[in-house]
Amino acid sequence: MAAALTAAESGARVTLLERRPTLGKKLLATGNGRCNLANRGDPAYFGDPVFADRVLSVCPTAAVLRRLGRWGLRLYTDPEGRVYPATLQASTVLSLLAARLREAGVSIRTGTDITRIDQGPHDWTVTDAQGACLRAERLILATGGLAGGALGNRRSDYALSERLGHRVTPLFAGLAPLEVTLGPLKRLSGLRLPARVSLYTGSQLRACAAGEVLLTDYGLSGICVMQLARDANALLAAGKPAQVALDLSPVFFPETRAWRRLPPVPADSYARTLTLLVDRARRFSQPLTGLVPDALIPHCPAESPERLARFLTELRLPVTGVRPMAQAQITCGGIDTAQVAPDTLSSTLFPGLLFAGETLNVDGDCGGYNLQFAFATGLIAGHAAAS
Ligand SMILES: Cc1cc2nc3c(=O)[nH]c(=O)nc-3n(C[C@H](O)[C@H](O)[C@H](O)COP(=O)(O)OP(=O)(O)OC[C@H]3O[C@@H](n4cnc5c(N)ncnc54)[C@H](O)[C@@H]3O)c2cc1C
Repeated sequence: MAAALTAAESGARVTLLERRPTLGKKLLATGNGRCNLANRGDPAYFGDPVFADRVLSVCPTAAVLRRLGRWGLRLYTDPEGRVYPATLQASTVLSLLAARLREAGVSIRTGTDITRIDQGPHDWTVTDAQGACLRAERLILATGGLAGGALGNRRSDYALSERLGHRVTPLFAGLAPLEVTLGPLKRLSGLRLPARVSLYTGSQLRACAAGEVLLTDYGLSGICVMQLARDANALLAAGKPAQVALDLSPVFFPETRAWRRLPPVPADSYARTLTLLVDRARRFSQPLTGLVPDALIPHCPAESPERLARFLTELRLPVTGVRPMAQAQITCGGIDTAQVAPDTLSSTLFPGLLFAGETLNVDGDCGGYNLQFAFATGLIAGHAAAS
């Protein structure tokens, strides 16, 4: 939508083709319906972060937000730098884009499932599932990713350009809950805890994030846990063991609360202080009441303050898997960015073919980075296609 609108505003005659009966189905589900559409913090991209950096140097956060403002969207930034529509409604963003597309004269054809693209001597032909063809001088592929179950797209959408020689890097789920053997925390499904979570393989620390952890029947969820999915998938795919270490320090030391990805520092600097705290609490008849969530108390080892402190700050649990793509928010992998120019989003193989959004081999962290990348690439590709 951003690419089509930008191309039309730059003077091109544009047709937007969409398989579904309506535009923006996934957009409506983002940010729990609130649409966290950008982030004012440092970039946090994976897959090909160098490509992402180059895209963001051409179209930085401020440029994306300025354009959204020019289209008429009022924005709200929360204290952590996450940007939302001021209404906190994804539907505002969608209805605004749809209105601007109509005003710019973009022809919108929903219910049009593109199954093939072919390059002719002077233009491109796109063919839909009914066999109808449309020709265009330039073609922007913004077919999204596989994440989100019914909101996601199909593997065959990547094959549109793969058939022509574009490579697709391995596709796997990112920002997804983890399947974890919960051991002593089994049967506490539904419990939410402020925590730091670290991902280890053996003694090697791979990633760390903090936030609210949700215990489930299959393991752990919550944004901070989902931020470990990319690394957990990579470890498991390489046949390496993976464990998460749960650290409940934020319960005891609220000043440590930073709800975000953290640099991987070993757990846990608070174990000694916590041992003293637990030791002091032993004067009370129910020593842990008020100190840890009630549901956890019966599961805490009572033998010694040291063991208890370790349990509460470095509980290691084996990761057995990452939840499937249907429960993921983003697809890791995609169209190989080595064959795409970051300053125009044009294919290096075919003139007139461009890409935008999640279909590329770039995935961002939770916090608005993925929509921001989709908007930035859309703005660049739309402008380049019309030039
Ligand atoms: C539950 C959930 C919550 C999320 N929350 C956030 C969030 O708050 N912030 C954030 O930054 N990111 C979030 N994301 C990720 C974000 O939604 C995506 O990264 C973003 O939508 C990608 O935009 P896109 O335009 O590339 O792809 P999409 O939004 O998937 O759009 C692609 C469109 O192309 C159409 N299409 C695909 N193939 C064809 C074809 N062959 N023919 C015709 N049409 C086709 C699809 O139907 C679709 O409408 C969330 C994802 C999920 C699943």
